[in-house]
Amino acid sequence: MLLGGLECGGTKMVCAIGDENGRIIKKERIISLDPETTVPQIIDFFRTNSIIALGVASFGPVDPDVKSPTYGYITSTTKVQWRNYDLIGNLRRALNVPCGFDTDVNGAVLGEVTYGCMKGLSNALYMTVGTGIGIGVYANGSLLHGMLHPEGGHVMVRRHPEDTFPGNCIYHKDCLEGLASGSALMERFGCNPAEVSMSDPVWKYESYYLAQALVDYILTLSPEKIVLGGGVMSRAELFPMIRRDVVHLLNDYIDTEKIKKIDEYITPSSLEGDQAVMGCMKLAYDAACSS
Ligand code: ZN
Repeated sequence: MLLGGLECGGTKMVCAIGDENGRIIKKERIISLDPETTVPQIIDFFRTNSIIALGVASFGPVDPDVKSPTYGYITSTTKVQWRNYDLIGNLRRALNVPCGFDTDVNGAVLGEVTYGCMKGLSNALYMTVGTGIGIGVYANGSLLHGMLHPEGGHVMVRRHPEDTFPGNCIYHKDCLEGLASGSALMERFGCNPAEVSMSDPVWKYESYYLAQALVDYILTLSPEKIVLGGGVMSRAELFPMIRRDVVHLLNDYIDTEKIKKIDEYITPSSLEGDQAVMGCMKLAYDAACSS
């Protein structure tokens, strides 16, 4: 069965055709502008392929509550042109297929637990550290929603005593995202973070902040494994720093076999950037099965 997957990002939309085994047959990137320009291009892509269902994983915040009148909307986003936009309603009316919907990071964790390095786990966490920071949570065998959905990028962290950067979150200033996102790093460095040597002390702060957030998630959500993705995490040197800081901050309080094997517990994605779009295939498959 041919399934459609749509990963909605702030700068690009990834449209893919695949199947329930996570195989991607065709993939196309569309620049993300405003809905009036971008959504018709998305619809054209999926119309030319005979999909039987579509899975959508979007930047947020979104309304993932199927019982809500605004289900499928992108809601209070900082991307003003997409604010309160009925994404799923418009796609469903145009394509006339069942649609599954969730956040981009829930899509990524779903991709990993269905097809990737967290396959088979019932409790897993995915954190993206890109322009923004977000977490996707898989708990007791399903994606965690609740009142809204996890917004773990905006948790508060203890400041590093040597760090004088004020933070750049427009809502909270020095929350995790305000201190450690790609956009915060850009502001700190005044250039692309990828060009900055790992000897710069900012990387030490970066690891410290991300590790604090991971410790909070470990203590509250008890994931069996954590995958870190996003542009900032393409600096592979950050992984050993973060693992070391997590172990240090836990301070033997959580003394499990998984924490003892921290290199296997906190890892990069195994799906080479396709984790969210593969999660969309699973969302689409589930939508097809329940229609
Ligand atoms: Zn914030």
